[in-house]
Amino acid sequence: MATIGVLAIQGDFLEHRQMLERLGSVVLEVRTRNELDKVDGLIIPGGESTTIVQLLDIFDMRDHLVNLVKNGMPIWGTCAGMIVLANSLTDHRPNPLKLMDINVTRNAFGRQVDSFEADLEIDEVDGQSYKAIFIRAPIVNSVGPNVRVISRLNDGRPVAVRENHMLATAFHPELTLDHRIHQMFLGMVEETRR
Ligand code: GLN
Repeated sequence: MATIGVLAIQGDFLEHRQMLERLGSVVLEVRTRNELDKVDGLIIPGGESTTIVQLLDIFDMRDHLVNLVKNGMPIWGTCAGMIVLANSLTDHRPNPLKLMDINVTRNAFGRQVDSFEADLEIDEVDGQSYKAIFIRAPIVNSVGPNVRVISRLNDGRPVAVRENHMLATAFHPELTLDHRIHQMFLGMVEETRR
């Protein structure tokens, strides 16, 4: 059975863990380089992207993580995790991992709409529309040729993107009871194990 890692150095990793456990997955909280070797896929949770990146560097995990993902390890970033995975940001900070060919703006919705919910249609997610929770969320400004936008806001801006074995969502599936996107990620992990 696959082991799903949740990067547990900052942010709402516990909620991801609980969601995965409800789905019957084996979960490992990842805080070291060695633990990265023990998982078949990794989730980078929401939180504070500057802190997450800073700690990845302090714990000397950046290069190892980037190599694992370049060699095919599935990864999913939610909110701050999306920022961490991006190729480039409109902000000066943090210095992202440059894994996904996307340009991202942090805190894209300003103070008035710090958090909101939106009903989304998401490719590969069947059934009723998906109620997504956005909290000080980023937005995707542009995507490279290999990136598929799988969901957009009503105004057309992308909020969920997929590039091969990499997934990023600007919102927080771990804060809902809707497990369809976690299920999608588990499917991505299973695909690479076949
Ligand atoms: N605003 C945060 C950042 O820039 C992300 C917020 C979140 O993960 N909910 O990292």
